[in-house]
Amino acid sequence: MLKIDNLHAKVEDKDILKGLNLSVKPGEVHAIMGPNGSGKSTLGHVLAGRPGYHVTAGTATLLGQNLLDMETEERAHLGLFLAFQYPVEIPGVSNMEFLKAAVDTVRESRGQESISSVDFMKKARAICKEVDLDLSFLKRGVNEGFSGGEKKRNELMQMMMLEPKLCVMDETDSGLDIDALQVVANGVNAMRNSERSFVLVTHYQRLLDYIEPDFVHVLSEGRIIKTGDKSLALELEEKGYAWLEGAA
Ligand code: ADP
Ligand code: MG
Ligand code: MG
Repeated sequence: MLKIDNLHAKVEDKDILKGLNLSVKPGEVHAIMGPNGSGKSTLGHVLAGRPGYHVTAGTATLLGQNLLDMETEERAHLGLFLAFQYPVEIPGVSNMEFLKAAVDTVRESRGQESISSVDFMKKARAICKEVDLDLSFLKRGVNEGFSGGEKKRNELMQMMMLEPKLCVMDETDSGLDIDALQVVANGVNAMRNSERSFVLVTHYQRLLDYIEPDFVHVLSEGRIIKTGDKSLALELEEKGYAWLEGAA
């Protein structure tokens, strides 16, 4: 699904990623943890092709295709979903319009016809229910006045509408109360299948009580310095990160 080899990236002349390796197979859920400033969000931005993030060495492929050569939209068409890729408010555009356009763009890139309004609304309503968003949400402006919990539910909704192959979620649990955390976890679990993979950046072990990862990685100073199973997250919760540093 995703293969990252020796990835080096810089932001404003500062080296942030320093030889990152990560391999994600179809159906797997990988959690990425690590101290603040270790490069977790940078990894997401590099995968998204965000301007200002420069790859200086290494490779990243999605489904065998070189991601680093592609425009952000092409990456999305190939099946990459980054939960933080639409963080801005878009005045005058409703969530419904935005979602329909996003779904149609992906369908078009796959040679499919645009979704009918009836089918779209059916699906959108069902998903609203599933992620616990009021239907009035569909008429609201994109990201307009969203609370932290609504932003996460919105991300889930986008994910469920777009049916991506690889979902990358940054700060999956930040600012969420227990109910919202449960909704996010249920949503991710409902979307898990043998062909879809997840990379979840998370700060707390707690999320991993609800979403059971196949692998837990520790990112430190731009490199993955330790990989384990879900028990590693428990160990980190107990001991912090300091005991691992120097292990790189
Ligand atoms: P994390 O998500 O693990 O907390 P980040 O990837 O956000 O870490 O940041 C890694 C390092 O890169 C930090 O030192 C941060 O200050 C720096 N950095 C990230 N984005 C930028 C940017 N746009 N401009 C300057 N420095 C940045
Ligand atoms: Mg940070
Ligand atoms: Mg971050």
